[in-house]
Amino acid sequence: MQYTTFGNTGYKVSKLGFGAMRLPMVEVNGKKAVDEDKAIPMMQRAFDLGVNYIDTAPYYCDSLSEIAVGKALKGYRDKVYLSTKNPIENLSGDDWLARLEKSLKQLDTDYIDFYHFWGIGLKDFKSWQGLEFGPIEAARKAKAQGLIKHISFSYHDDAQNMPEIIDSGIFESVLVQYNLLDRSNEENLAYAASKGLGVVIMGPVGGGRLGAPSAVIQGLLPEKPKSSAEMAMRFVLSNPNCHISLAGMSTMEQLEENAKIASREGHLSEEEVATVVAMMTENKKLAQLYCTSCDYCMPCPANINIPHIFNIMNNHRVYEVTDFAKSQYKEVIEGTGWVKSADATKCTECGVCETKCPQKLSIIKQLKETHKALV
Ligand code: SF4
Ligand code: SF4
Repeated sequence: MQYTTFGNTGYKVSKLGFGAMRLPMVEVNGKKAVDEDKAIPMMQRAFDLGVNYIDTAPYYCDSLSEIAVGKALKGYRDKVYLSTKNPIENLSGDDWLARLEKSLKQLDTDYIDFYHFWGIGLKDFKSWQGLEFGPIEAARKAKAQGLIKHISFSYHDDAQNMPEIIDSGIFESVLVQYNLLDRSNEENLAYAASKGLGVVIMGPVGGGRLGAPSAVIQGLLPEKPKSSAEMAMRFVLSNPNCHISLAGMSTMEQLEENAKIASREGHLSEEEVATVVAMMTENKKLAQLYCTSCDYCMPCPANINIPHIFNIMNNHRVYEVTDFAKSQYKEVIEGTGWVKSADATKCTECGVCETKCPQKLSIIKQLKETHKALV
């Protein structure tokens, strides 16, 4: 396993982190439960392979992930950095502390190493940052009491808003999305690292879904990595500003493969990164023949986030990661994704968007094609 220094904390962390959001599940008496017979040995195998950072959250795996992680950490607690999150569902410091207490209880531990403000955006952050005994004051109190070691945040807001949150000086590490298909936070990784934050990447292989074979992704290097997951993981790991690449793993096989990749020295040379970036830029140009994400067509009266839907479609038709695209579109239909949008069938064919699209795209027709291709 390769290790690196985690920002100003000075900790030596493993380049691979265990994301406990996709633990194997079973059904017990009609209810979903973590399959602990598989999940616990898998997490402990990860620790034995040198993985020393594990990330969970209160709602992962039907709200059962923290309990399973707590059990897996028995005998390993002092060797592994533990991360979980607080959703800040109201702004009272007491509520924030009550959620922390609950997580500590579920995890059966006295302290959390990295406690995240979960999925904060700049606008919300600014609205409660200075509140008297709001979330920040509560976090500082918890840190002074030793209940948490470091205050962190996870991020899903627009890339351009992140530096201002970093500049608040409150946070010691950040958890943010970055992968071959979504490099919008690349500059933020560098900025966060330059400010001494530990940087953890979520979704390095698109939540495991970039694991689907793709001739486009595997063809990025002449040596043809054996899977697109390997290509995607090596790309993230080769970024010096990525300290930990967090992979959500469901099987021992995925763990063994990821651990092997994270144990390699030198993931991609500078030249290889340049080749990959150049080829992905070409692919992006191809994607932009369809939709440039300019947003001019928005808002849609039927609440369809047109550029988001077309981005998903491009993952299928340009990058050939069709399973990934299908799962993204499923999130749209079920309303479970971070980006909110009605699905393509909600289009009333009013035509307003087409009059505003500089690419002169047949949006109505393409929405129909998207739905057909991804359902
Ligand atoms: S044509 Fe469809 S997608 Fe375009 S604005 Fe009208 S409802 Fe929205
Ligand atoms: S206006 Fe056209 S190019 Fe721009 S986001 Fe909408 S569909 Fe895409």
